[in-house]
Amino acid sequence: MRKTLIVGAGGVGNVVAHKCAQDAETFGEIWLASRTQAKCDAIAADVKAATGVELKTAALDADNVAETVALLRQIQPEVLLNIALPYQDLTLMEACLEAGVHYLDTANYEPPDTAKFEYKWQWAYQDRFREAGLTAILGSGFDPGTTNVYCAYALKHYFDEIETVDIIDANAGDHGLPFATNFNPEINLREITQNGRYWENGEWKETQPLEIGHDFPFPHPEVGTRRIYLLFHEELESLAKNLPGLKRIRFWMTFSQNYITHLRVLENVGMTSIEPVEFEGHQIVPIQFLKKLLPDPASLGPLTKGKTFIGCLIRGRLKGSDEMATKFIYNICDHQECYREVKSQAISYTAGVPAMIGARQMLNGHWMKPGVWNLEQLDPDPFMADSMKWGLPWEVVDGSGFQMP
Ligand code: NDP
Repeated sequence: MRKTLIVGAGGVGNVVAHKCAQDAETFGEIWLASRTQAKCDAIAADVKAATGVELKTAALDADNVAETVALLRQIQPEVLLNIALPYQDLTLMEACLEAGVHYLDTANYEPPDTAKFEYKWQWAYQDRFREAGLTAILGSGFDPGTTNVYCAYALKHYFDEIETVDIIDANAGDHGLPFATNFNPEINLREITQNGRYWENGEWKETQPLEIGHDFPFPHPEVGTRRIYLLFHEELESLAKNLPGLKRIRFWMTFSQNYITHLRVLENVGMTSIEPVEFEGHQIVPIQFLKKLLPDPASLGPLTKGKTFIGCLIRGRLKGSDEMATKFIYNICDHQECYREVKSQAISYTAGVPAMIGARQMLNGHWMKPGVWNLEQLDPDPFMADSMKWGLPWEVVDGSGFQMP
């Protein structure tokens, strides 16, 4: 019987476990392993109650290659879904190579001691995966992930050439707490407090953190007009490389004024720093201490109400024509519907469902191609069809009415 191993039992791991169990015919015997086995067991109990499927669980330190290889040899899964943290990407890729297992993740590698995420470390595995006849799929979450597939879909079906892409991510949900991050606070805050960056005319342009904002009228009454801020986001790096003829690509995210005020204060007092400080004889990394104090993102599930809206506004030259047009491809998710289905809010849901869908493409043979791939390099059609079926329905509208700066 086919076996699947999911590593990581946080907010996103919970969603991936539920969704794989909903399709046990494809995923076979499902294992969930993480640093704290009790969290795997709690998820397994919820999955059993929701789907009737029994997950197997294990404790694993995914920073330890030998320990991971031993578990892989014991279980012999066809694919490992890395839903732990970006810090584990390289050790898990190494372990997959050693044990002969296909690999998929949702976020690119980030060294723990430098707030800098980049694909170069994982792209360096291209030859080793190809030579081993193994497939590694990078960034199969929503953004990166589904957003990359939206671009590939636009290029396959609408445009001969894409000129500009604006990826727009709105969380119009409210958890009612003064301040909380929607996914791992350390990863989230490291991303937002970096300088902004976008790609234009062949070069990267840098901005101060959250320096450029714009009021964007989302085409959904429950989302409405919201301020979006330009950020660097990891899919910009691969899309700038893989979309031929591209002139500009940017990423935007909504933040409320309240969120930004909290963030500024935390930054000003040094609480978002990743430099260790000595406190009463202990070395403490401020952002890790802050993570301890903030609400666990998994606890936001029952509290959060409202929608998420994530999409790509894509301008290009229409197929077989000189005419330019803009398409807006997007998904809208409802926090409470997600919670009812898998006991997670929509941020974890929108990240976890594409991991399951991406792994499904691998196991069904659509995306099994030895080497290391970003999602825009693969056929978008089966992924788009599965998004409709497995919980992330999408729409395409004429985007010419949406003005961007
Ligand atoms: P959480 O912090 O909630 O969960 C991370 C899980 O990984 C925890 O169960 C943690 O264990 C486990 N873990 C951490 N270190 C290790 C280790 N060394 N060995 C084994 N397990 C380990 O994070 P999220 O669920 O919010 O995020 C998971 C991933 O999803 C992240 O990489 C994040 O960047 C990515 N993501 C991607 C998105 C996308 O759209 N592409 C969007 C949102 C998130 P423990 O429980 O013991 O702490």
